[in-house]
Amino acid sequence: MIIPKNPKLSDNQLAEVERIVEEFGCKIQVIEGAVQSIYAILGDERHELLINRIEGLEYIDRVDTIQSPHKLLDIRSELKNHKTVFGGVTLGERCLAIAGPCTIDPKDPNRFYETAEALKEAGAHGLRGGVWKPRTNPYSYQGDDKALEILMEGSRRTGLPVNTEVMDERNLELAMEVGVHMLQIGTRNALNYSLLRAVGQAVAGTDTVVLLKRGRHIGPINEFISAAEYIVNFGNPNVLLCPRGTLPNLEGYRNHPDESITPLLREKTWAPVVVDPSHSVGKAVYVEASSMAAVAYGADGLCIEANIDPVTGLGDDPKQAVTPEAFRRLLTKCEAIWKLRS
Ligand code: PEP
Ligand code: MN
Repeated sequence: MIIPKNPKLSDNQLAEVERIVEEFGCKIQVIEGAVQSIYAILGDERHELLINRIEGLEYIDRVDTIQSPHKLLDIRSELKNHKTVFGGVTLGERCLAIAGPCTIDPKDPNRFYETAEALKEAGAHGLRGGVWKPRTNPYSYQGDDKALEILMEGSRRTGLPVNTEVMDERNLELAMEVGVHMLQIGTRNALNYSLLRAVGQAVAGTDTVVLLKRGRHIGPINEFISAAEYIVNFGNPNVLLCPRGTLPNLEGYRNHPDESITPLLREKTWAPVVVDPSHSVGKAVYVEASSMAAVAYGADGLCIEANIDPVTGLGDDPKQAVTPEAFRRLLTKCEAIWKLRS
């Protein structure tokens, strides 16, 4: 839909606009209003270059598109009945609960195994554990390939599938080689389109799930969904959208909790939403409230940092990991909220 700066286009202007859209196989339908005329583009209006060329004309105010820029993830897409399954849970049928430490300590594998067993016992359907870490401080612990073996051993011991973040194509290759069940794309790489493409290619034809965190800035909802479309575009629709707090932070919290975007995502996409309350609020004492809010807003699941002894953990754990007992308590409350939703 083309909206001109003046109430209507002159004949010459209309002819110029028509010439441009015809190059893209489209036509113009004039809609004459009493005060303002608008110009509908008939045909596929998603060509970015078409929109840029028209918006570049000095007499055009803007072009509003109706068609979704993310056709596969669109709520009207044929994929809308796709069901992603992880840890025995069909997304949407029960509250998916993933938990585990921020960072696996390669020097202390038993801590991961004990945490994993305790979380399984507390109701987790899957485990998380950071092998490679995106750290703001270049001198902080950056992760270690050795932790990948520990992650997979934790999976074998508990029978639970595992999630870990991949930051580059090397991580991706190693993670796929050992059979990591869920790849996480962190907030810092959420708009790294070459990584998103590489992940999409790597998981195509497999049942690997991808958890895509929301970028750490107040990005538009379409930007978030379009980033996920990069992955699905290669053929594997198992993508989960993960709000995890955004910027600017709400004083006292690590970020600005954004679990409230779930109903907005629901209107635009069928992709399940799994909220990470831990990075959102950044402190263990607030994680329960944030988890309950996420489920109340309609989340399909939660991904929570947890450790048997958070105080001596690595990475974010001393600040924001909950104990397995606290995880069990919050999960019981979240499941009660889930029941109220239906
Ligand atoms: C994490 O999950 O430990 C992590 C670093 O996540 P995020 O990308 O959300 O900061
Ligand atoms: Mn973390």
